Amino acid sequence: MADSSRSEQHIIERWFAPLGLANASVELGIGDDAAVLNVPAGEQLVTSVDTLVEDVHFRAFDSPAAIGHKALAVNLSDMAAMGATPHWATLALTLPQINDNWLDEFTAGFGALAKRFDVALVGGDLSRGALTISVQIMGTLPVGQALRRSGANVGDLICVSGRLGDAAVELRRRLRGEPVRADSPLDFPQPRLALGVALRGYATAAIDVSDGLLRDLQRLLTASNAGATINAAEIPTGDLDMALHGGDDYELCFTAPALCEHPIAEIAAQAGVPLTEIGVVESAAGLRLRDAGGGVTEPSIKGFDHFG
Ligand code: ADP
Ligand code: MG
Repeated sequence: MADSSRSEQHIIERWFAPLGLANASVELGIGDDAAVLNVPAGEQLVTSVDTLVEDVHFRAFDSPAAIGHKALAVNLSDMAAMGATPHWATLALTLPQINDNWLDEFTAGFGALAKRFDVALVGGDLSRGALTISVQIMGTLPVGQALRRSGANVGDLICVSGRLGDAAVELRRRLRGEPVRADSPLDFPQPRLALGVALRGYATAAIDVSDGLLRDLQRLLTASNAGATINAAEIPTGDLDMALHGGDDYELCFTAPALCEHPIAEIAAQAGVPLTEIGVVESAAGLRLRDAGGGVTEPSIKGFDHFG
């Protein structure tokens, strides 16, 4: 006989419907065949999707709360990189079995972050299979104000938020079997949403750093048809190699005009995150690294690529 406490409807009502949040922008959320959402007048819809797969994006030693947090955080980071404000998410969850504890903790991690940024879970899907988590995020921004990868100009400053490399250092420790450090940015990356909004109308290009600084900055430069030299000594990190080639930072890297009175310090204060200038955009293609002694090299890019 079917166990009704394990029916899809029960699972959705118990664990996911509570993440629906009463939000005036949600005309219809979880429970119908599709969600109906109100995009504010004068704004554009901004959307992206990210999938987390066990043993690729997280591991059995990660806590379910951290996995829930991260599944949403990586998507919020994409909204931040666009300068968008997130409002809605959908969640497609593939589970090997129903484990009450796991679902309690996963939804607590996901839900706490969603609540902090006023993001309503408006739909999703459930299936049985190898643990896989797909979150689609939807947000808005004023028409024409999206921060793109392609707008960097020669002479612009290159800045990064926060610190780089800490998550990759922690992952390396865990893979060596060293004890897990709680509260690592590997588990609980902090999406830089306030920074993304503050950069509207100021940054010329932006990207979030998820696959190593070199790989992601190179993506921005390629899209902008430019190159750059960055200074190793200025990169905010405790481990330069992990900052350049590691991943999972979810900080923002952006370019901005090098005005005499540039407001980087004000933007940092407004966004509540340190910002560091690390280099300058140049016309010659390629990404060059100046070491502390002044020597310039073009390092090979070893950051993460699923198929690279
Ligand atoms: P359908 O078969 O019409 O696609 P489902 O039975 O899959 O509908 O889902 C019922 C409702 O629950 C829908 O509104 C769907 O968006 C929502 N839902 C299903 N799974 C999830 C989930 N993991 N998280 C949030 N909402 C979900
Ligand atoms: Mg469905």
